Amino acid sequence: MIGRFARANWYAELVERLGLCAKAARAALVSAGFEAGKAGDWHRLANSGLPERPLALASGLGSTGRSGLLLVPGIGPGLVLGLLLVPIEALGLDGEEALPSPEPRAAKPTAEEPGLPAPGSICGSCRACVEACPTGALGEDGSFDRESCIQHWSSREGELPPRVRAAWRDSLYGCDLCTVSCPRYSGAAPFSPSRGILGPGLPAADIAASSDEELRARLRGTALGMSWIAPEALRRNARLVIEKAGAHRGS
Ligand code: SF4
Ligand code: SF4
Repeated sequence: MIGRFARANWYAELVERLGLCAKAARAALVSAGFEAGKAGDWHRLANSGLPERPLALASGLGSTGRSGLLLVPGIGPGLVLGLLLVPIEALGLDGEEALPSPEPRAAKPTAEEPGLPAPGSICGSCRACVEACPTGALGEDGSFDRESCIQHWSSREGELPPRVRAAWRDSLYGCDLCTVSCPRYSGAAPFSPSRGILGPGLPAADIAASSDEELRARLRGTALGMSWIAPEALRRNARLVIEKAGAHRGS
């Protein structure tokens, strides 16, 4: 099984769409007689090192659920975030004018953070994600234990913590149980992606037997071909899937 968010290269899809947005916005600015900056200064990013979720929260795009995921009204938690950085000229500023400097935010909002509701404050009595998490990584108070998260470990090499290993089932990459269990999850995307289509799974035996080079070649252009996923982590996941399937058949 491959997590839903990685069954196509949504990040590349998003960057491409942000490019279309940038092109349309630049054209509109220019035709209205405004400064739009150079095309190369409109930067498109997805899954970047920038604090995408805090920025999305600060811009009012949604709220943080008890799962720690961004919940966007009408969409829920099943989404990927991207950024379009606009050159300062296109904002009508000359570079000398100071933009209001945002308060630095923690990667995950807390109850103490001014201006933002605490994680889970919009969830009411719902605990579906906490109950769906097979490792207990999610707390009722919105806390998150990264070291207990299958998603976290699916891209990292190393020995799995016992509770993660015990809870692992058929995941070749990813876990989206806390996403799909959310009553706000809206289901399938409203359009079909065209980039890096993998589908719901890959043959575990092939992945387990592949070299680094073979994996890179096979997964190039997909969400699993990204630099942050260690090939050995994928092979370990595949071996574990085979082991768990064998244990299940034998039980
Ligand atoms: S991704 Fe999976 S393991 Fe991680 S918090 Fe969500 S349900 Fe739990
Ligand atoms: S599953 Fe329920 S508790 Fe968890 S984020 Fe969604 S609404 Fe909130």
